[in-house]
Parts: sequence; structure tokens; C-alpha cells
Amino acid sequence: MIYLDNAATSKMSKKAIEAEVYVLENYYANASAIHSYGMESENLIKKSRKEIANIINAKESEIYFTKGATESNNIVIASLAGKDGLALSSSIEHSSVYDALNNSDFKKVIYLKNTRDGQIDLDDLKKNLSHEVKLLSLIYVNNETGSITDIKTISKIVKDFDENILIHLDGTQALGKIPVDVEDLGVDTMSFSGHKFHGPKGVGGLYVKKKILSKIKPLLFGGRQEVISSGTENHPAIYAMAVALRDAVNEDNYSYIDGLRTYLKEKIEESISDYMVISPEEYYSPYILNVAFKNIKSEVLVHFLEDREIYVSSGSACALGAKSRILSAIDVPVDYIDGAIRFSFSRDIRREDLDTTVEALREGIEMIRGVF
Ligand code: PMP
Repeated sequence: MIYLDNAATSKMSKKAIEAEVYVLENYYANASAIHSYGMESENLIKKSRKEIANIINAKESEIYFTKGATESNNIVIASLAGKDGLALSSSIEHSSVYDALNNSDFKKVIYLKNTRDGQIDLDDLKKNLSHEVKLLSLIYVNNETGSITDIKTISKIVKDFDENILIHLDGTQALGKIPVDVEDLGVDTMSFSGHKFHGPKGVGGLYVKKKILSKIKPLLFGGRQEVISSGTENHPAIYAMAVALRDAVNEDNYSYIDGLRTYLKEKIEESISDYMVISPEEYYSPYILNVAFKNIKSEVLVHFLEDREIYVSSGSACALGAKSRILSAIDVPVDYIDGAIRFSFSRDIRREDLDTTVEALREGIEMIRGVF
């Protein structure tokens, strides 16, 4: 099997699995219990908080655990929403931001223009800044194209205009893959998710800068175990997530993965005609390569490849059916947009896997173009 759908989710690392099983077997008490056995669980959460905080240059007290990036994004949006305020975002956000904004009660949500390479049109940003704006929510690494938003430049513009505008970053596809330093990026909150960096599914977190904590409210009321969220903490998964993240950061696979991305691009160039690389040339995460093939229905190609046990994605796995909203927003030409395939890498992929993939792609495309 060749798994090239790591942006949808990744395989849990052995170390993370072992860590989670160890905790499940040995330290299963409720972390909120006041007895000493419960405190062992709480200590594991503390340790995980510290580990993740160090990695993103935050304080331990600024890391909160949630059920994943969807919950984290929703918490920030719901907290800031209100009839007297505006929200700014972009047209290439993940559905957990886009759908949450569309269902929020902000007076208005303004979706800023994106350039073809996935950047925010800075003139459009400046034009839309006003003191009514309460929130700017942007994606860091785009889940369909891999483009990296120049958030540092954007936060400087926004904070120079009005310190009180909260800047939220969806860091889900960035953490564990490219450097993330919340201080340097100038953001107030940032979401992340364990299953994108070989940790467990259903667990993630939210970085909340200390001085804006009072603006953030939970979506799930109850015990407030995590202040901004309630429910018994899944500390075995939290711990395993921290182990997976530490491992991903220590391994530093960036150059290896970038080599794979370049290799795949070159192989496609050699073997296939009428294609377009959708991912940008600059400011990209190497973990995602999106290529569109002319006059192809990507779903048909995904199923052709699946018969050969090669797993890729058509656009985003989270966007059910329809044309990709994200690719439409960056003006991918109509005769290419339906044929976009997202290849997303992990350290487990070898160059031989990419040779096999491109050979299957060539066959599939030839067959599909012959039929339709
Ligand atoms: N944001 C982005 C950019 C994502 O790629 C994803 C996962 N597809 C999410 C948010 C949602 O993450 P989770 O699965 O943890 O809810």
C-alpha cells in the first residue's frame, strides 16, 4: 500500500501508540481526582502541556487541550462572535473555520481576497480593517494546496492598526511539519490537532495568549477541566500527542519530504501531459503537493489508484463532494479544477513508491481521457 493522504490523517507513530497504551494500562485515573493516583494522570497532562508549549514558544499555561482543531477553531469563533463586531477571514479556510463563521452571529464576516499562490491580498486586508473588527482568522498551511500564509506580515499590519483585534491561526497542517513560533508569528490563538503529526485522532489543542484568555469561552460547558472546554480529559491521548509531536520535531524530516515533493513533480513532468501544479512555487509546506490534470474527474482517478492500493485525495477529504471552494477561490482554471489531486507525504514514503504512483497515474489518466 502507498499512503499519500497524510494531510487527511496520518498513521500513529509506534512511539505514540506505545505511550498511549502505557498510560491506558498504568495511569487510568481521572486527572481531576484529588487522590494521588489521579494526580499521576494530571502530571502527564502537565508534562504534555510543557512539551507542546516549548515547541511553539508559548508558556505552559497557554496550552489548552480539546477534542481537535475543529473544536479549537469553533471555540475561538464563537467566543468572539456578536452582533456589534466584524470578522475577517479568507476564502481558503478549512470548513471548520468557514462553516463556523457562516453560522456565527457576527454583524458581518468579510472574506479577504486570496492571490493565486494562496496569499492574502494585503491591499484588501488594509481596506477592510476597522475598529469594528474583533477577529481575524486565517489558516497557516492550507490543507488543499500547502501554501503558507505570511502571517507574520499580516499580524504586524493588523496589530499596528488595532491591538485589540484577535488574530487566530489554524495551525493544523503546520505543527510538526514546519517551524511554528507563536510569539514570532504574532498570533493570539492557534489551533492544532494530534492526528496530523502521527498522534492520536480526536485530540488537539488551542494555544491562547495569556492576556486575551478572558475573551475565550467554552463551547462545551461542564467541569471546565480545560478552562475553555469541559469533559474528562483524554490524558492518554494528550500524552501520546505530545510524544508524537516531540518525535516529529526532533526527526526534522523537512528536507527529506521536500525531496519527495520535488521528485514527484519531476516524475509527473516526465510522464504526463496537460497538468498544472496548483501548489505554489514559493512559501509552501513540502508535505502537500496538489496537481490538477486537464479533463479528468479526480474522483475517478482516486478510485483507479485505490484499485492499486495507492491512496490520494481529490481536493480536501473534509469537503464533501462539489467543486473545491478553496481551488475556486484561487482561480484554478475550470478545465483543471475537477482534476485536482492532493498528494500528501509522510516520512514512510520512499521514492520507489512515487515511481509506482506516477506509473499508475499515467495509466489511469490515459484510460480516463480515452473514455470521456
Ligand atoms: N484545520 C485544518 C487546516 C485541517 O486540515 C483540519 C483537518 N482536516 C482541521 C482544521 C480539523 O481538524 P480535526 O480533524 O482535528 O478536527
